[in-house]
Parts: sequence; C-alpha cells; structure tokens
Amino acid sequence: MSITVNGAKCPQDHRCPAINVCPLDAISQDGHGLPQVDPDACISCMVCADYCPMGAFEELG
Ligand code: SF4
Repeated sequence: MSITVNGAKCPQDHRCPAINVCPLDAISQDGHGLPQVDPDACISCMVCADYCPMGAFEELG
C-alpha cells in the first residue's frame, strides 16, 4: 500500500501544507505542482490524508 496525490482533487496553486505534517518528510513539491510522495519513505500513516482539506491524498493498492 502506498499513498498518492490525486491531481483532480489537488488545486496545485499553493505550497502544499501537508508537507509540514508528514512525520517522515516523505512529501515533496516542485513549485506549486502536484505534491509527490516518496514510496520508500512513506509508512502510510495517513496523517497527510487526514489533514488535507481537499482529500487529495489517497491510498493505492
Ligand atoms: S501517509 Fe504518513 S508517511 Fe506517508 S506521506 Fe502521508 S504523512 Fe507522510
């Protein structure tokens, strides 16, 4: 299981605030683009999914 960011839900027009809540520093973002989750670092704790008001962080698999 891993986490991905749904581009249809993420507005991609601001710095992703979920970057600061990830305890593993697994989320990165290029400018205001779609945030990326490092599958090797992510432990699927769902902190980002619970935090994001857009519900853009989703489980895969
Ligand atoms: S599920 Fe947890 S470890 Fe994975 S990106 Fe979200 S906050 Fe970070």
